[in-house]
Amino acid sequence: MSRSAHPAGPRHADVMTEGHYTAPAEDLNALDERVWARTVTRDEHGALTVGGIGVARLAEEFGTPAYFLDESDFRARCRAWSDAFGPGADVFYAGKAFLSRAVVRWLQEEGLNLDVCSGGELTTALDAGMPAARIAFHGNNKTVDEIERAVSAGVGRIVLDSFQEIVRVAHIAQRLGRRQPVQIRVTVGVEAHTHEFIATAHEDQKFGIALADGQAAEAVRRALTLDGLELIGIHSHIGSQIFDMAGFEVSARRVVQLLAEVRDEHGIELPEIDLGGGLGIAYTSDDDPREPHEIAKALGDIVTRECEANGLATPRISVEPGRAIVGPTAFTLYEVGTIKPLEGLRTYVSVDGGMSDNIRTALYDAEYSVALVSRTSDAEPMLVRVVGKHCESGDIVVKDAFLPSDLAPGDLIAVPATGAYCRAMASNYNHSLRPPVVAVRDGQARVIVRRETEEDLLRLDVG
Ligand SMILES: *Cc1c(COP(=O)(O)O)cnc(C)c1O
Repeated sequence: MSRSAHPAGPRHADVMTEGHYTAPAEDLNALDERVWARTVTRDEHGALTVGGIGVARLAEEFGTPAYFLDESDFRARCRAWSDAFGPGADVFYAGKAFLSRAVVRWLQEEGLNLDVCSGGELTTALDAGMPAARIAFHGNNKTVDEIERAVSAGVGRIVLDSFQEIVRVAHIAQRLGRRQPVQIRVTVGVEAHTHEFIATAHEDQKFGIALADGQAAEAVRRALTLDGLELIGIHSHIGSQIFDMAGFEVSARRVVQLLAEVRDEHGIELPEIDLGGGLGIAYTSDDDPREPHEIAKALGDIVTRECEANGLATPRISVEPGRAIVGPTAFTLYEVGTIKPLEGLRTYVSVDGGMSDNIRTALYDAEYSVALVSRTSDAEPMLVRVVGKHCESGDIVVKDAFLPSDLAPGDLIAVPATGAYCRAMASNYNHSLRPPVVAVRDGQARVIVRRETEEDLLRLDVG
């Protein structure tokens, strides 16, 4: 259907004074495959299914709101990343995007490594049987306790983030009789966000040690003198939800430049470089993410070229995708509650969750799409804002979207691409119960993180 056939959409949109909106899709019932998990489709009655199971059954069995994660899609994305980078490189899944014991087991089965950045993530990884040698430990303020646990467990690398931490990790390793493999995280002077990268506003942030002013070279100097440390490489992570490879290319070039300086000064070639994560995914049909093989080729080419130019052997490359693996694999299923049309503005559609299960819209102004999934509809599109049930007017899940105008309380709607940084950032605001994560695969659905209960809330409240 053409836009002009639906005066409601553009007319409402015209009155918007800020932000931008996506014009109503040609067909509101269509599911853009870039935005939805791979096994998502509609059945013959028009209801959305994932892994072969319909949303009505999922809602009945597991309740709403809930995250439904397409396990075969998750595994396929792991394989796409490791196949793209090949045996000469390492893929570390960034656990902060979403971590659970089931996820750790999938990573092991698919041959990926794992980044953690807290004692809690380390415990989850080890508890689910991830070999410590395949774990990297990150963070700008690791506690002494966390460092001791990571070193004792024998993690494959600790990524050093400050001058103080260089000394701290060295002392702890020495005391424990270990020589800890480490990388130094450098800030290369590039900060990338989505469609552009910024080559100036980079040093004014908390992570890493600046390449500028010779700080990173000084960090290498210090690390090389300490017996407790085995310096294996340089690490750089430039941002998140990035589509433009240019920022990665600048980063790779500057990291290789540092390797050349280290070789010139110390006569050693550090064997590894890590180029971090941050690859963007499609949250809406406007987003056009790069595929793992394109990323692997772009990064591989630039590192090879820069190393040749500097007379260095090509180091082992690692990357750390989080969002790009788990983000597209899940959607959040909500039940529609109150519907409030604001004449001349838009219609507010309230759901049974909100900022407690997806803080990204409030936190980053993130954009999401939404679809009616319990049925199809041929009704006119209406401009909506999907909001939660929390006591904040900023409690917005989807800022601007179109849903069919016959939407009614009790309908199920779903927000795709909520696998990353949604359950991981979920809160108990208003003493709401954090939703479950249900893995769906080949007609089977199983809870991998259960829904919180009111007993869980009361158990922590010991006053
Ligand atoms: C957050 C983070 C990642 C993962 O970022 P994504 O945007 O989820 O790919 C990787 N490496 C480091 C060091 C990070 O902090």
